[in-house]
Order: sequence, then C-alpha cells, then structure tokens
Amino acid sequence: MNRRGFLKQSSASLTLAGGAAMAGCVGRGGERLTMAGYTGGDVSIRTGELVAFETSLDGAIIRRADAGYNDARTIWNACIDKRPALIAQPRSTTDVAKVVRFASQNGVSLSVRGGGHNHCGFAVSDNGLMLDLSQLNRGEFNRESSSAIAQSGMTWAQFDGLTHRAGLATTGAIVSMVGLPGYTLGGGIGWLHRKFGAGCDNLIGAEIVTATGDIVRAGLRDNEDLLWALRGGGGNFGVVTKLRYRLYPLSHVLAGLIFFPLDDVDAVGAFLDGYLADAPDDLNVWMLHRMAPPSPVVPRNHHGKPVLILAVTWTGDEATGERAIAPLSKIAAPIATAIKWRPYPEWQSALDGAWGDGFCNEWVGGYLNAYDGPVRDIIAKYVNIATSPLSDVKVARLGGEFSRCGDADSSFGHRDANYAYVIQTRWPRDEDSARHLAWTYNFHRALKQVDAGGVYVNFIGKNEPATRVEAAYTPSTLARLRAIKSEFDPDNLFSQNANIVP
Ligand SMILES: Cc1cc2nc3c(=O)[nH]c(=O)nc-3n(C[C@H](O)[C@H](O)[C@H](O)COP(=O)(O)OP(=O)(O)OC[C@H]3O[C@@H](n4cnc5c(N)ncnc54)[C@H](O)[C@@H]3O)c2cc1C
Repeated sequence: MNRRGFLKQSSASLTLAGGAAMAGCVGRGGERLTMAGYTGGDVSIRTGELVAFETSLDGAIIRRADAGYNDARTIWNACIDKRPALIAQPRSTTDVAKVVRFASQNGVSLSVRGGGHNHCGFAVSDNGLMLDLSQLNRGEFNRESSSAIAQSGMTWAQFDGLTHRAGLATTGAIVSMVGLPGYTLGGGIGWLHRKFGAGCDNLIGAEIVTATGDIVRAGLRDNEDLLWALRGGGGNFGVVTKLRYRLYPLSHVLAGLIFFPLDDVDAVGAFLDGYLADAPDDLNVWMLHRMAPPSPVVPRNHHGKPVLILAVTWTGDEATGERAIAPLSKIAAPIATAIKWRPYPEWQSALDGAWGDGFCNEWVGGYLNAYDGPVRDIIAKYVNIATSPLSDVKVARLGGEFSRCGDADSSFGHRDANYAYVIQTRWPRDEDSARHLAWTYNFHRALKQVDAGGVYVNFIGKNEPATRVEAAYTPSTLARLRAIKSEFDPDNLFSQNANIVP
C-alpha cells in the first residue's frame, strides 16, 4: 500500500476503534476543572467546554478517578511521580489536533508522551493535559522505496518487528522499549549510526500537528526547514503523528559483548582509541563501564565487580566481521565473550532486561574527542565507587556515516565528536536519591573538565539548567531553530522538552 493509502486507512480504522470516549466523562457534577496553564498559573475550564472536547474525540480521556489513570500516567523513570488533570489517548491524527487545539485555546499545560522513556519525565506534568500517543502504534513499510511510515506511539521493538520481516532496518535505540519520536527528534544513536547515520538522518518525512491544531507535512520537498528542525530539535515544533524513515537492507548482525576487568581499561582503551579511528563503518563499538551483572555469561566470581564491557555490532558479512572483531578479544584476557551472528531485532533487545521500568534514573552526558588516559582514569575512579550496581557509564564511538552529515542536513550537532558518553545512574525507588545524584553530578563535573564540550539533548540531566540545551547546538543552528520555533510555536505551547525558547 502506498503512503497516502496507509494514512487514509489508519485514520479510518482507528476512528472505528473509538467509542471509549464517554468512559470517565469529564465535567461530572457540573464543576469547573482547574488545570495548570502553559504560561504559568492555573486555568479554569468550563464543564461544557470539557464535555464538548471529550465527546469530540474517538479516543479516550482519562481522569484521576478513572480506572487506568495510574497506569497511563506512569512512565519509565519511577522517580517521576506526576499527576496530570487529564490524560488524552487519541486514536487518530484528527484526535491529536483536537487535543492540541483544546490545550492552546484554553491555555492548558500540555505534555506529550511518545514512548515515555525520557529520563527527565517530559511526558507527564502535574495538573496538566497529558497527550499519550500509545494507541497510535501502527506502521507500514514500502519495499519499493525502502521506507516505512510509523505512527508516533510505536516503540523500536514494534518498528523493528515490522521492518525485519522485509530484511530491512534503520538506526534505532539500543533498548527496544524506547519510543520512536523522542529518540528520533532528539537525534538518535544506536548500534547502526556508523553505518546508516543517526536516527534523525533517516527521518525523511513527518506529519505534525502544530500549536494551532493544523496538520502539516514536512519532507524533503515540502516544509524542508521544518524537517531539518525535527532532525535533532526535539519536540519543540508540534506533535509529530507520523514519521517516515529510510530503511536499509539489514537482517542479521554479528554482535554481542566482550567483558574485561575494569582494571584493564587502560590497555583496552589505548588499543581501541587507535583501532576504532580507522575501523570500517560496519564496526560499531560502545564501551560500558559498570559492576558486572549476575548474567549467566559472566563467571560468578566476577558478579558485582567493576568491568569494562565492549558492546560490538558488525553490519557486514559474517566472515569479515569475525576478522574485524577478533583483535578486540585479544587486547587483554577477557572474562567472557558472547558474540554471535543473529537477527538484528534479537541484538536490538539484548539489553532490555537491564533497562526496564520501575527504577529511578538520572542521566547526564557529553562528547569526547578521545577515549584517552584522563577520561579513562575518571571513569575508573567513579565506577569503582558507584553508589548503585545498576548504574553505568556508556561511551559510544561515533564517526562513519554519522559524521558525514553536516549542519545543513540536520539540526543534530557535534558530528565531529569522536565519542558520545552518558552516565546512567539507576537505583531502586525506595532508596534515598541524594547520594546517587551526588555521585552522578560529581562524576559528570569531573568528566566535563576533559570532555569535548557540547551535549546530546537526550542526555541532558533532569536537574541541569535550562540553558544546557544551548550546548547541544552551534550558535547558527540554535538561531535557525529559534526562528522555526517562532514560526510554528511562538507562544511555546510545546515547552515540556529540551526547550528552544522562541
Ligand atoms: C532504556 C533507554 C535506552 C535508551 N537508549 C538510547 C539509545 O540507544 N540512543 C539514544 O540516542 N537515546 C537513547 N535513549 C534516550 C531516548 O532516546 C530519549 O529518552 C527519548 O526522549 C525517548 O523517547 P520517547 O518517545 O520514549 O520519550 P518520551 O518520554 O515519550 O518523550 C520525550 C520527549 O519527546 C517529546 N515527544 C515525544 N513524542 C513526541 C511526538 N510524537 N511529537 C513531538 N514530540 C514528542 C516529548 O514531549 C518529550 O519532550 C534511551 C532511553 C532509555 C530510557
């Protein structure tokens, strides 16, 4: 089916799937509803206005007293405990437009939930209107044009499941439960960015509901400026309802983990820094530094001890990959090696078990020019005194196709950096957060002394100042993003994100 056919069919069938709208009808008892306003303060909504809004939707509105409210407001980061006044679960783009119009016309604070995985918790806010896209989770691929259109409530697991059937893939997140929109609009790195570019580089079209409730398209031929902004500028320009991705032939990868004691980080790191500088685009390596998990592939005596894990992906043929990866297992004596030829979605979900929801999380990050001695010393020092065995710091080699995209192609910056890093602190919800956060921020302060400057928007910490977002872009990119923001969202309705102030 062609793209237009898909759009038409999805909207028609989703409309038929509606009907739950009257469940939990708003305005019961004739009261007015006080909600948080998006310019500050509260706004008061008339009952008639609410009822008209609710009955106009094919999808559902969930209120605090309704069954399902707690499930719907819960996001990946368990330390985010916000209680929206209303949760809208649209069933079509038209529904999304109605929700956005309701928020903008009534001055209501609006948060947008794609996959709900952003650690800062942008997807939900206290007493606002949460626009939950999870019901819009269908996709369609087009073999002829090697592209796929996805509704924006899809996760990478759902998307990869769809495209893998045709032996196709594009650059997604390294954990499959992550949502397409937050990842892609922020930039998107993963197991494939060196081969196929960043996630956003493969975004070739989008359908967006703007702050006025208008439905617009952005593509390589229409609204190119908007497409450029969506490739790295985050959720600042509207609610993206459909994303169109370029796909590549990729069915299997040679991929897995090589474990070393963290004491070997210098030997391994010194070799890697040189080896990866000349490596083919097919080789993608992330360095994970953490306490060894109690995994069956890791010998028991190493469980809970500091390790360096190389997460290796090879996208070429198996025999060449074996030759390219072999030197990595010989740098020092690995504790364990678990690399195999496997379907891409299997590798794409291999880390899911360690990154499920229900835990508290804080992430902070930046870029590195080199994975050199000073960097490795700081990492080793802090990982050895980590406050939680669940935390890690990941360093991803960039370069390859990722670095061939320039500022003219996308707003996702820092293409010349050799590595991106992210400190991922994770702890049980019932533990006091203070010491985990102190470790995170001390570690980050130390790394910032030696990093390359800049940050990837999806790795900005929850408690970093709002101005940190400026470090994600060059001054000229930021100026262009601000101009596009001013055109599409001059009043900053879409402010619950790494915000570009119009
Ligand atoms: C376990 C885990 C693994 C991760 N792995 C990677 C990785 O490998 N590579 C990487 O680059 N990042 C990774 N991330 C970071 C991830 O890309 C971001 O957290 C991203 O924001 C999550 O997207 P989401 O749609 O799930 O988030 P949400 O929390 O739903 O949304 C995040 C932001 O995007 C905006 N947004 C969401 N949907 C839309 C929409 N439809 N239209 C407009 N704006 C929207 C929201 O308003 C919010 O500001 C990972 C995160 C987690 C938790």
